[in-house]
Formats: sequence, C-alpha cells, structure tokens
Amino acid sequence: MNIRVGHGYDVHRLTEDRKLILGGVEIDYEKGLLGHSDADVLVHAIMDSLLGAAALGDIGTHFPDTDEKYKGADSLELLRHVCTLVSEKGYSVSNIDATVIAQAPKLKPFIPQMKQNIAKVMNLDTDCINIKATTEEKLGFTGRKEGIAAQCVALIIKD
Ligand code: ZN
Repeated sequence: MNIRVGHGYDVHRLTEDRKLILGGVEIDYEKGLLGHSDADVLVHAIMDSLLGAAALGDIGTHFPDTDEKYKGADSLELLRHVCTLVSEKGYSVSNIDATVIAQAPKLKPFIPQMKQNIAKVMNLDTDCINIKATTEEKLGFTGRKEGIAAQCVALIIKD
C-alpha cells in the first residue's frame, strides 16, 4: 500500500462587489473574495493538497490566472478535474481535513452544505471530508477582515 500526504494553503483578499463563495456555498456577507476564478479559497486549498500529495505541482500551474478560460471559474469544477488527475495516477483519496481562517462571517451553519458539495464532486462519502472554521482572534490580516485563508491536508492511497 502506497500512502501519501499533501498540504494546501491559500489566501484571498476580501473586497466589495464580489460574492463570497466557500466550499461552493454562496454566503451572504458584505464582501467577497477577489480572484480570477470564483476565488473559493477553501476549494483552492483542497486542490493544492491533492496535487501536492500526488506530486502534480499546484493549481497555478494547472489553472493559470492568465488564462481567460478560468475567469469566474466554478472552483468545484476545477476540483473535479484535479480528482481526475489524481485518479489517473492510480490514487484514490482517503480523506481531507481543511480549516478556513476567517474573522467573519460565522461559517459553522454553512459547513454541512460545503461538505456535501465537496463530497459530491470528489465522489466521496461526506465522512471523508472534514471542514473546520476558526478565527485568529482579531490578529493579522484575517483578524482585520482583510482576507480569508484556508489550509488543507489530504491523504491519498494506492494498493
Ligand atoms: Zn486561490
């Protein structure tokens, strides 16, 4: 059995006139995340953890922000593609564990829907997906509500 671990980290700036989309859930908030795609920072961290585990580089390589094709892209669809790349290397995903770091809004009510969205595109049981939300106690850029960060670890396995 070949077991591999990967880590992902991403940050996006909060700005006016953008939708806040996390884990494929549109959340009602005064600001949204700035980015070339839908700026779903959680899904981006998940993709980087999977690409990292499979030694496939990072999302910037696979989905360059200079490519018009990815403007406003639905990050869940990009995640679906990443899962295909991982399975083409002969691996299946065992589990992912992610943390969203945001001072506001409160994310707990949205986590079950995020888990469902992610499990669906990854073709996994929701029990394989863990999503946590935390604040950084008003410290730093997340604490000042300037941006939202996300981290993820993924385990992938091959017989
Ligand atoms: Zn990103």
